[in-house]
Amino acid sequence: MKSAWSDADAAAAVSRYAEQGVGEDLALRVYTARLLGRDPLLVLHGGGNTSVKTTARDVFGDEVEVLAVKGSGWDMGDIEPPGFPQARLDPLQRLRDLESLTDEDMVNALRANLLDQAAPNPSVETLLHAFLPHKFIEHTHSTDVLSLVDQPEGEALAREVYGDRFAYVPYIMPGFALSKAAAAAYEASPDVEGLILLKHGIFTFGPDARTAYERMIAAADAAERRLARGRRPVFPGATLPAALASAAEIAPLIRGACAARSSGEPRRMVATFRTGPAIRAYVDGAAVASYGVRGVVTPDHVIRTKNAPLVTPPPEAGALDAFAEALHAGVADYAAAYDRYFTRQNARVGGTKTGLDPLPRVVLVPGVGLFGLGASHKDAAIAADLAENTIRVVTDAETLGRYEPLGEDDIFDMEYWSLEQAKLGKKAEKPLARHVAVVTGGAGAIGRATAKALKAEGADVAILDLDADAAARAAAEIGGAGLGCDVTDRASVRAAFDRVCERFGGLDILVSNAGAAWRGRIGEVDDAALRESFELNFFAHQGVAQEAVRIMRAQGTGGALLFNVSKQAVNPGPDFGPYGLPKAATMFLVRQYAVDYGREGIRACGVNADRIRSGLLTDAMIAERSKARGLSEADYMAGNLLRREVTAEDVAQAFVALAKARATTGHIFTVDGGNTAAALR
Ligand code: ZN
Repeated sequence: MKSAWSDADAAAAVSRYAEQGVGEDLALRVYTARLLGRDPLLVLHGGGNTSVKTTARDVFGDEVEVLAVKGSGWDMGDIEPPGFPQARLDPLQRLRDLESLTDEDMVNALRANLLDQAAPNPSVETLLHAFLPHKFIEHTHSTDVLSLVDQPEGEALAREVYGDRFAYVPYIMPGFALSKAAAAAYEASPDVEGLILLKHGIFTFGPDARTAYERMIAAADAAERRLARGRRPVFPGATLPAALASAAEIAPLIRGACAARSSGEPRRMVATFRTGPAIRAYVDGAAVASYGVRGVVTPDHVIRTKNAPLVTPPPEAGALDAFAEALHAGVADYAAAYDRYFTRQNARVGGTKTGLDPLPRVVLVPGVGLFGLGASHKDAAIAADLAENTIRVVTDAETLGRYEPLGEDDIFDMEYWSLEQAKLGKKAEKPLARHVAVVTGGAGAIGRATAKALKAEGADVAILDLDADAAARAAAEIGGAGLGCDVTDRASVRAAFDRVCERFGGLDILVSNAGAAWRGRIGEVDDAALRESFELNFFAHQGVAQEAVRIMRAQGTGGALLFNVSKQAVNPGPDFGPYGLPKAATMFLVRQYAVDYGREGIRACGVNADRIRSGLLTDAMIAERSKARGLSEADYMAGNLLRREVTAEDVAQAFVALAKARATTGHIFTVDGGNTAAALR
């Protein structure tokens, strides 16, 4: 690991932030915090924290000494000055004289001394920063340092690497007690460059930004070089079946097994897949059920991954039913063990806690890889990132000695610490949170609007489009996945849905939207054109619906198949036979899926829209048709009972309403501004 410090970049940060009225100390603090935060071997997902002691002006214009420390909710990799709440230093330092301080009083004292009450909560490790005298302080959960200290002989191994340059602090839960112990450890060895927190992480400090930062880099580098000396394959492999099922095949099974079904509507999770040589060496190990479940590498991770992953048997190709059965049994055992752990530990702390859901957040699959799970793709990806990080720590720790993390009591204290749970936030979930949606023709006007509307309601969305670049652009706009897919080609559909399963674990809402209009007077129309239209406007709907149903049935949590039909299906326009005929068949398809899959909780509905500005009705076509009818463009577009133009957003809202309508199936929703000739009943 090398220092990324650059005098030019540091100076640029100072002048850039000066324009925002930010002083040099805080500017440099932001600069090096970001350098640390961008290296996943040092900091992952809100982990770690840094501080600077500086001065600020209060409301009277008086200069006061403050501690600017990382705020809750900010990631160091992209932190900005507002991510460092500033608290008066002197009152924080005086807290050290107290014998004890409750968490509530600590948080209150931190907030009460903020210069700006709108600032985020200062880090739970703020007092540790306050009690040390140094101007710049860095704290990370360095992957390689953890490999050294997550050992029965962790202190001896760390001393071998760092000698007297660091002081060593036994594990104490973050908060007031750890802050006092860390300050005392420093004062006993005032020449040290930092502190090694056994089974937790590392602090470095210095009089200036560069020194504190480069001490962190040097310490992580020393650990890395020590570990590199002994690296070798350490996990003898298990015997695996000759042929294994794919990640895409097992993802919906995992997602289904990890959905809570205790109360009415299933509470789903999103699952995301990772693999690679290091992951495979780990999950394929014969003893993965031992080293793989000993616990988190640093206590902070427990709120994201729980203390241990679920380890499944290897999934044999062609034997998915057997795998599903073993998986459901494994999840039930995992949940029961978690509930026992909670009951046991809650009794220890006086029965004051409320149990969290008992389902795994990381699943290790021998022969395949790992899955991270969470309430959204973002949460699932965080769990997967932490799991990958864990694999590196444990692999190196086992090479060196024996991986031994914290015991159950300490983990429970951290997992159920109110200040840790507060990091996850308590916002109410949106109606389509925990749902995965796929929108075909997703780069067109209606597709894009629908994908955006589903995302706004909390769903994770995959946009499929014939034009892969357009799909990627549309996905980037909303923060989803964009995939190229020819919906008339079954292999292309299967490949795209496989990618969706790897990225999100499956799907719950299909919006089968791709379509195009063929025209021709029906008695004279070219047979090939009619068949082509049937390929896209009927068979493609059937193809994507079949794939979606296969996945939904594997999940066992129901789902919604939503089809973009057309008013042509009931109200044919002259020369639109080649378009209306397959659309009429698709409208029947909606009802057939409703009939055949209702008992499995899979709903099927359609939208009949008309006269929407889109790839099917371009501005040029609008100009031509309105002219032919002797109408203004506005009057032509508003030619309906409501006298208003119907937009792609209106269609999108209809799909959202159908996605949420849990008791509705076989329904066709018209979005045409009112047209009695196209009315269904
Ligand atoms: Zn920490």
